Amino acid sequence: MVSTTLAATSFSLLRNYNANVRAFAANVRAPLQHSTNYNSINFLLPLHSRRSLSRVSVTNDEEAAAKAAALNARSEAPTIFDKIIAKEILSSIVYEDEKVLAFRDINPQAPVHVLIIPKFRDGLTTLAKAEARHGDILGHLLCASKIVAEKEGILDGFRVVINNGPGACQSVYHLHLHVLGGRQLKWPPG
Ligand code: 5GP
Repeated sequence: MVSTTLAATSFSLLRNYNANVRAFAANVRAPLQHSTNYNSINFLLPLHSRRSLSRVSVTNDEEAAAKAAALNARSEAPTIFDKIIAKEILSSIVYEDEKVLAFRDINPQAPVHVLIIPKFRDGLTTLAKAEARHGDILGHLLCASKIVAEKEGILDGFRVVINNGPGACQSVYHLHLHVLGGRQLKWPPG
């Protein structure tokens, strides 16, 4: 009897431990989405209101993160993309040539969501920093977006986005194009 109780307690502890580890891992993987679900008044609201409140919170989180990230805009500090270029951080590479690297976004907003970045940032923390000398790389990035769309089979409908600055929720200050597709894209984008 004692051993049965002990076994049941151990199993229950193990199950709780596994659930906690899973919850922790999910939060680490996607802090923005999950942090919004624990709003203190959420449980008082009907489901549809919870969803819209959640969206507002996500937006607020994104805006706050974008403002914090913007502090790097004027610096030449390296970003996470330098580590991706150096292959110190693994990414799913879709296309690469001597000037640009295209890899799948870690937080995809569409079935196809690829980022294209110049390998040499050359001051382009944002598109707003573009000068005449950047014409070649900017054109090259756009041509690469067509190659990526072709490779991904979305030439019939895809969108190329550049978020510029905190007002557009830019979060990484190394110029990049988002190539989105694989579903019907709505307009206006929001
Ligand atoms: P932004 O918000 O600056 O326009 O876009 C930055 C993008 O980089 C976001 O969509 C974000 O999901 C993506 N991102 C951030 N860190 C990583 C990473 O380590 N790996 C990959 N593949 N994408 C990342």
